[in-house]
Amino acid sequence: MSFTIRILLAMFLGIFLGSLTNTFQNLFLFELVSIFLVSGLFDVIGQIFINLLKLLVVPLVFVSLVCGVGQVSSGTQLGSIGFKSALLYMLTTSFAIFSALLIASFFSPGAGINIESESTFSAPEAPSLKDTFINIFPTNPVSAMSEGNMLQIIVFALLFGYGLLKIGEKGEKIKNFFENLYQIILQIVNIVILISPIGVFCLIFNIFATLGIEIINDLLEYFLVLSFILVFHAFFTYSIILSLSKLNPYIFFIKMRETMLFAFSTSSSSATMPITLKTVEEKLGVGKSVSSFCVPLGTTINMDGTAIMQGVATIFIAQAFSIDLSFTEYLMVILTATLASIGTAGVPGVGLIMLAMVLQQVGLPVEGIALIIGVDRLLDMIRTAVNVSGDAMVSCIVAKSENKLNETAFNKV
Ligand code: ASP
Repeated sequence: MSFTIRILLAMFLGIFLGSLTNTFQNLFLFELVSIFLVSGLFDVIGQIFINLLKLLVVPLVFVSLVCGVGQVSSGTQLGSIGFKSALLYMLTTSFAIFSALLIASFFSPGAGINIESESTFSAPEAPSLKDTFINIFPTNPVSAMSEGNMLQIIVFALLFGYGLLKIGEKGEKIKNFFENLYQIILQIVNIVILISPIGVFCLIFNIFATLGIEIINDLLEYFLVLSFILVFHAFFTYSIILSLSKLNPYIFFIKMRETMLFAFSTSSSSATMPITLKTVEEKLGVGKSVSSFCVPLGTTINMDGTAIMQGVATIFIAQAFSIDLSFTEYLMVILTATLASIGTAGVPGVGLIMLAMVLQQVGLPVEGIALIIGVDRLLDMIRTAVNVSGDAMVSCIVAKSENKLNETAFNKV
């Protein structure tokens, strides 16, 4: 059985059996399943699977970036890769939220909703953009790594790699050491991939057994509109951008399907990063000098799927509270959501914090988040898959423009 089929099977079995357990949770047998599997065995396996993926993130980002810097021809090229990636990430995110606002206004998902006034949601405090910018620069590389602060690790790895590049031949041994270290980490990634169908099954089973598929019914219109825009953005907008760069979108998505399934199951771009990096380099042919920078950066600051959620949720909450938004406020939403996706880099549960920032910015009640929180866990799965494919797409485009894309590898199906 091919790997994709195994992952797909694990996912559908998880959805089916999990929903079944939720529906019949009051029956004796399913009660036992809930106690021993949902909060027991499956939870343990699912958490271990996520932990193993996260375990690889810090060493992989550091080691692959140091190796990547060794492959650029000059500091100027490094700057150009950085500039293009950051610009493309911001442009695609603003477009994502713009199209979300446009399409969601057309469908009016929040019209006629009865607000439960006692609903409550308090968003955790988000750091200011200024602090985020200052904090990109680490004071201590070890604590940056122990905290898993991706942007700080990127900065330290770039400086380290630059130093290594500068000492030329003297650094040859260290360079080889990092190359070998990279190969070792990739072997560990392979082990995690091998056990992934089991991990995926346990994660998906637990989500559906806890929430149940019926939860979608309560917010059907919101769920459908948001899912539609997410799918539209991934498959339509990204395809157009890829085609404009003369890259075949069909091949891109065929090669990305497993990574997107990983993102879907783990709901975490960061946990999926080891797989994204491997796919982008090995299957899509992106050179390490681009992928090792673009993928970790994208994982941290590029969240098109999350930005789309901000757009639709803003419209939904505004309509549910019968508040009209002006044109300037719409522009404010686009700006805040784009900046928030950078400003909240590295903060867990980032989607809802960003949403709280957007709502506050345009004067909408933050408690409105309580209306959509029920289905958010399920939508998080879809939007993470979009976030991750956005990171890979931008990596391919930047690599192509820098002549760092192996097109034969990209086109080989
Ligand atoms: N789960 C998303 C991700 O990791 C972020 C979010 O929307 O909360 O990409």
